[in-house]
Amino acid sequence: MPTAARRGRDPRHDILFEPVRIGPVTAKNRFYQVPHCNGGGYRDPSAVVEMRRLKAEGGWGVIFTEQVEMHPTSEITPFIELRLWEDRDLPALARMAAAMKGDGALAGIELAYGGVNGSNLYTREVPRGPMSAPILTFFKDPVSTRAMDRTDIRDLRRWHRDACLRARRAGYDVIELYGAHGFGVIQHFLSPLTNQRGDEYGGSLANRARLFRELLGECRDAVGDTMAVGVRLSLHEAGGLENAEVRELVAMHAELPDFWDLGHGSWEACSGTSRFDDEGFQESLVRGIRDLTPRPVVGVGRFTSPDAMVAQIRRGILDFIGAARPSIADPFLPRKIDEGRTDEIRECIGCNICVSGDMTMSISRCTQNPTFMEEWRKGWHPERIAPRGASRTVLVIGAGPAGLEAARAAGLRGYEVALAEAGDEPGGRVTREARLPGLAAWGRVRDYRVHAIGQMANVAVYRGSELGAGDVLDFGFENVAVATGSTWRRDGVARFNLLPIPIDTAMAVFTPDDLMAGRLPPSGHVVLYDDDHYYMGGVLAELMVASGLRVTLVTPANLVSEWTLNTLEQRRVQARMIALGVAIVTAQAVTAIGAGGVTLACAFTGRARDLACDAVVLVTARLPADGLWQELRRREGDWAAAGLRRVVAIGDADAPAPIAWATYAGHRFARELDAEPAGDGPAFRRELAELWPGEEGR
Ligand code: ADP
Ligand code: SF4
Repeated sequence: MPTAARRGRDPRHDILFEPVRIGPVTAKNRFYQVPHCNGGGYRDPSAVVEMRRLKAEGGWGVIFTEQVEMHPTSEITPFIELRLWEDRDLPALARMAAAMKGDGALAGIELAYGGVNGSNLYTREVPRGPMSAPILTFFKDPVSTRAMDRTDIRDLRRWHRDACLRARRAGYDVIELYGAHGFGVIQHFLSPLTNQRGDEYGGSLANRARLFRELLGECRDAVGDTMAVGVRLSLHEAGGLENAEVRELVAMHAELPDFWDLGHGSWEACSGTSRFDDEGFQESLVRGIRDLTPRPVVGVGRFTSPDAMVAQIRRGILDFIGAARPSIADPFLPRKIDEGRTDEIRECIGCNICVSGDMTMSISRCTQNPTFMEEWRKGWHPERIAPRGASRTVLVIGAGPAGLEAARAAGLRGYEVALAEAGDEPGGRVTREARLPGLAAWGRVRDYRVHAIGQMANVAVYRGSELGAGDVLDFGFENVAVATGSTWRRDGVARFNLLPIPIDTAMAVFTPDDLMAGRLPPSGHVVLYDDDHYYMGGVLAELMVASGLRVTLVTPANLVSEWTLNTLEQRRVQARMIALGVAIVTAQAVTAIGAGGVTLACAFTGRARDLACDAVVLVTARLPADGLWQELRRREGDWAAAGLRRVVAIGDADAPAPIAWATYAGHRFARELDAEPAGDGPAFRRELAELWPGEEGR
């Protein structure tokens, strides 16, 4: 692959590459990959190992695991993280530490005791917390904690020491005790919301911090002077451990931990999406804390710009640039800055599709980086790709995210690539959607790829080139990807209505395609019917309110934009709708559209009612724009004579899905050019649990 020549670092960025001491160890630079989940965890340990190894290759100074559950009395099933319950867990964790340290990074392990956040659905142990209270999980499991007595606390302290000793044996350099995001017992004791104890562990801040002091001190004693021991804390918990008290806590224990890793508040707040939060959005909460402690401070903020990172260091706000999502979107971010290749950074777009992999317990994927979590499963390196195979030419039709990524990756392999786009500008749906309220960062999917393609002499882009099947056959490229996208349906069909609904032609009916093309309802009351459930419905409601329309959002779901639960945005979406004055009707479906309004059916009882309106926007399903693909298939008999070897539909033209699915499909197309046809089994390596030896049939 044509690897970019080393151009040399911009001296303004030198400060990011200074070594920083963390207790007894030293990080080689200020790039700190904070712990992040990946949906693989203990089920896919080798996939996680390889993903972390590539962060090391990419130049990160400190690399962390995801949260590692330290004891069976606290686990967060159904979420899949890592476990360190006994010595048998050591080999996988040791392999991970070795991978992290390969290129001189420090290997970090985040030890978690979930307390109030662990329902123990797998181990069936009784959960323990500061007091008797319902478990606080995403799924509101009907389980409560037992209030820990002194024996329980003694046990908890011993389990922490044991976990630290195991972490040391596994080869880690840095231990971080998890006390952030509402997910760690340290925070549960610190917070006056989850700790209402009357003994020496409750009440004053000094008392609530007792467990924190004991655990940090004892972990340090356990591992001696060989490892750094610090804590990950939330900067603000509304109504609980608020920012002022966090500062008091830091001042009171300024030298106790070897470092402070400070995250926002809840996970939703800390992993804010670009729709709601800009780069560096934590600054007001973390500014000034560094003056309270001599220990290094780590903070996050979806940093992708080296200048913004430098500003955080120079202005004395942070010592380490913490990053989870920017390190997922571009594992080579530090190296690219180091080598003066900042224009090649694949910037995170802040969509949280990666988070959805954890929330759905599947495996994480990234909109910008299609190789994420495929590093081991498919052997996909984020920066390197095999040279081209036997064929030479590739035609990609459509320059949306699928087509752009197919052209970029095929170009990197050295194929002669032509990318034909019907419109005047590249980007397809990301260009259209990036103009909608809050989605400007989506444009980075296009910008990164257009820039990369622009550097390649072997990729030609043809704008204003709408191709037909005849053109494709005439051109005779050996490999063809049809990436012509999708269109939104206009007939009401999605999940609730599986058949088209009656629509009176006297009513003005719009689809997202109309609104994105600038065709909005002219005035009055609009019913937006959302049976898509991802971001589009809420975003278009915002667009219409900004245009002076009165909007009622109707959905058969119980929540607005319900799937955004998986991207941690749902509460903020619904709050924004309420703040904007959008009328919300949940658990109702539009089942007919008349001349003066719509008919709604209750999603539970089917009971019908009418709702008057002046226009209807249907955010329902999309259909592949696959006319070209179908025509090419009809003419399959002509392919060989025209020199076509492989013709496929990719991305939305194959099956509509989020943008991440499109970039993945484009990347896969390019990787599989000239590959042997896949067999019937899985298209990736899969790890299997080892059977317990010698217990056949029992
Ligand atoms: P995806 O998400 O799968 O990449 P998009 O809808 O974002 O799909 O992009 C599809 C792109 O294909 C659009 O930019 C569209 O203009 C382009 N396109 C559609 N049909 C043709 C065609 N026949 N020839 C060239 N480009 C096309
Ligand atoms: Fe960023 Fe989205 Fe990739 Fe997550 S999935 S790292 S938020 S681009």
